[in-house]
Amino acid sequence: MRYVSTRGRAPVLDFEQAMMTGLARDGGLYLPEAIPMFSADEIARFEGLPYEEVARRVVSPFVGESFSDADLRGAIARAYAGFDHIARAPLVQLAPGHHLLELSHGPTLAFKDFAMQLIGQLFQLALARSGNRVTILGATSGDTGSAAIEAFCGLSNVDVFIMYPHGRVSEVQRRQMSTPADANVHALAVDGTFDDCQARLKDLFNDHDFRDEVGLAGVNSINWARVLAQIVYYFTAAVSLGAPRREVDFTVPTGNFGDIFAGSIARAMGLPIGRLVVATNQNDILHRALTSGEYRVGMVEPSISPSMDIQVSSNFERALWLAYDRDGNAVAKLMDELKAGGFTISQGALQQLRETYVTGRASEEETTAMIATIRDETAEVICPHTAVAVKVAREHLRPGVPMISLSTAHPAKFPDAVEAAVGIRPPLPQHMADLFQRDERITRIANDAGVIKSLILERRTE
Ligand SMILES: *Cc1c(COP(=O)(O)O)cnc(C)c1O
Repeated sequence: MRYVSTRGRAPVLDFEQAMMTGLARDGGLYLPEAIPMFSADEIARFEGLPYEEVARRVVSPFVGESFSDADLRGAIARAYAGFDHIARAPLVQLAPGHHLLELSHGPTLAFKDFAMQLIGQLFQLALARSGNRVTILGATSGDTGSAAIEAFCGLSNVDVFIMYPHGRVSEVQRRQMSTPADANVHALAVDGTFDDCQARLKDLFNDHDFRDEVGLAGVNSINWARVLAQIVYYFTAAVSLGAPRREVDFTVPTGNFGDIFAGSIARAMGLPIGRLVVATNQNDILHRALTSGEYRVGMVEPSISPSMDIQVSSNFERALWLAYDRDGNAVAKLMDELKAGGFTISQGALQQLRETYVTGRASEEETTAMIATIRDETAEVICPHTAVAVKVAREHLRPGVPMISLSTAHPAKFPDAVEAAVGIRPPLPQHMADLFQRDERITRIANDAGVIKSLILERRTE
């Protein structure tokens, strides 16, 4: 399988190279040249299989020759062994025709573990083969950072630097990043927003000398392997509810557009997904862009669903590339305009995007109210991101078509928001019960690529 950049001017790579590279050298994002398809019979045979086996079948056509089948099997088995639920991504019923896909059973209690644990295993295989060492640089709105640290801490050939917006992540999220004792991981509290962290990340990746000197690797959802791992649970969930004989709808709480984009790929592979609903919080740039055709960057408004507090949604570039019929020049031009504040989506592309995605938003009040409603109706306690999805999903229910809302994090990661809604503080699971007693290690740092670069050069292992 060959991978091409959304901006059309970077080298064509194989899966392993695309995974180790992260961001393309022309500033674009890698995507497979062609999307493999499953027949309805092949999808039907996923029914009742272990999660790991579905993962192997879904992932392997994208991996091509990069890893042997035995290596891939082993990596997948190790990636999900630490999850605390045998189904890995279990479904819970919320109401007739409405289901919750629980993606919070991994080690850091958010869906990011699905991709990060697998990427951690695949990186180890690739680095052991090449003898290289890499510096992983990540930007996080909270959950990617802890998942990356969990996946890479203690590895001898990797240094990990995670930038997060100072004061804008939950205390549990911060502590998950700041308490691992391994010397190879570094939590950097940047004076800025998540968009600033992501912009500094791109600055450093576009500094090609630095990039080559430290062997920079990216594990944000700009990394295709992240998106790939997330395709799997769309298949397991849909098949559990009757696909491919029956269509299913999904609603996805969305920030950087990685998770929902994975859903669009599942559909392109042949999974009969009807509606794919993008749910945003008050930072509703995606909802507005698909409604008006204007993608205009505003100010981030901190919310109770902080992992979605974002204005520049990286993976939207992948959706644009598909909507512009894979025209790298057109995408490069839009991304230049974005630097100046925004762009207008062409009529044709807008029409394609609207055929692929439906959108909706939830205000802060609506999110809090939905946490309470679901607790009243079902006794389930959901996190605020999940509540955004459930609120928007309820506006898009269709008779006879099951709706699956993605539950992206454990409520204990956001205890303040949950307590404000239902008056209880959800307890952390056993393996994290002493999180608030552990020592923290954080470096506060300016929102400045030069300063961040110096720190990495100083701290990384030669
Ligand atoms: C990252 C995250 C999201 C948003 O996912 P994207 O792939 O960035 O759209 C939603 N909910 C939670 C809990 C997250 O950690």
